[in-house]
Amino acid sequence: VKINSCFKKIFFVIISFLVFLFYSEAQTPDSSVIRSIYNEALLNGKSYEDLRELCKNIGARLSGSAQAEMAVKWSEQKMLSYGFDKVSLQPIIVPHWERGNTEVGWFQIKDKINKVNLLALGGSIGTNGLISGELIEVNSLEELKKKNSKDIKNKIVFINQKMDDTFIQTFKAYGSCYPIRGNGAVEASRLGAKAVIIRSLSLSKNEHPHTGSLNYNDSIQKIPAAAISTQDAEQLSTAIKNNQVTFSFEMDCRLYPESPSFNVIGELKGIEHPDEIITIGGHLDSWDTGEGAHDDGAGVIHCLEALRIFKSLKLKPKHTIRVVFFMNEENGNAGGKSYAKISSEKKEKHIAALESDRGGFAPRGFVSDGNENELKWMQSIAINFKNYDLHVFDKGGGGVDIGPLKNYFPEIILFSFVPDSQRYFDFHHAPSDVFENVNKRELELGAAAIASFIYLLDKK
Ligand SMILES: [Zn+2]
Repeated sequence: VKINSCFKKIFFVIISFLVFLFYSEAQTPDSSVIRSIYNEALLNGKSYEDLRELCKNIGARLSGSAQAEMAVKWSEQKMLSYGFDKVSLQPIIVPHWERGNTEVGWFQIKDKINKVNLLALGGSIGTNGLISGELIEVNSLEELKKKNSKDIKNKIVFINQKMDDTFIQTFKAYGSCYPIRGNGAVEASRLGAKAVIIRSLSLSKNEHPHTGSLNYNDSIQKIPAAAISTQDAEQLSTAIKNNQVTFSFEMDCRLYPESPSFNVIGELKGIEHPDEIITIGGHLDSWDTGEGAHDDGAGVIHCLEALRIFKSLKLKPKHTIRVVFFMNEENGNAGGKSYAKISSEKKEKHIAALESDRGGFAPRGFVSDGNENELKWMQSIAINFKNYDLHVFDKGGGGVDIGPLKNYFPEIILFSFVPDSQRYFDFHHAPSDVFENVNKRELELGAAAIASFIYLLDKK
């Protein structure tokens, strides 16, 4: 009996130890710093209230608009209030396009008229009064390109390409549909169409149209282009199966002369290598519908909050860490291009950059455009994030704003922050991209993940 109970005790101790090992946090020298970063974001965080101010007090902020200029002022004041070592405005020149006041559309089958919800694509010319035409549907840009001009001439082309539901990473579905928005107007006009309508780039089915920029080609006649909601696209597609459909719409959007604007820059000076710069940022401008909450209010706020956390925890970076609120990502990328060019002209040394422009959802990880060794380093730090639910540490990386840095600093490593992507395209470029659709904890966790990642990158 005695031996049996002694054996039981030893057995119990061994099992308890194994359970302890299994559940204890992976202790690394960095884990207490990362824990304090997360605590600061979750307990004393400013990200959610800062995003509320940007969305509710400033609102949508398309380049060249009064709101964009006020957003610049707001950002400068905010960075100054956090006591960064240096805050500056970098002058740039941006395009200025406005949606105007009229944006209405209908489709007609015999004597029945149906209203549709539409949004001009960014950069589109106006319709110069109401225009109407017979509608022709295609399901992709490839299908359109194969058409004869006699089938298209004087008609309104409806490109009804659905985003592919089977992609787990929704950005892939977006990427494969993006050409209908970017190049639909040029390809339809090439065949003589008078206008083009596209199905909104969204995986959700609702009444919101989603805008976004289009490209024109100077040698091809510019035609008006608009996106209709996915719900309207389905209805229209059903209607056109057995009927001749006439589509009518009016838009008074127009392009104004370019105007001056700014990137907003704040930094913490490095204590060991002050001349070596790590840039973190997103874009301050947004489309003019909604409030630019996920795209990209969340991204600029993530990076602002990451720097604020460094400051508030008195973490002294070795390298200079710079937060940049880029202007004009949505329709021209003047901010990203100018920042890279000016950095090169000033003979600065840029070693790494990170962009957050995929919304304010729960963080999943980071991707990098670095070589094998860089990827190995990313995978080696993954252990630090195990208890914070981050698991994506892969190849990828870059972004529209930080991409141009690569042209001037070929050695630079570009990173992207990767949040969960499932709901991003429900709100992207739509009237529903508002503050209420950003979750407080998810936003805070994103800022904490970025601050932790930059902490590890800086001390690498
Ligand atoms: Zn964006």
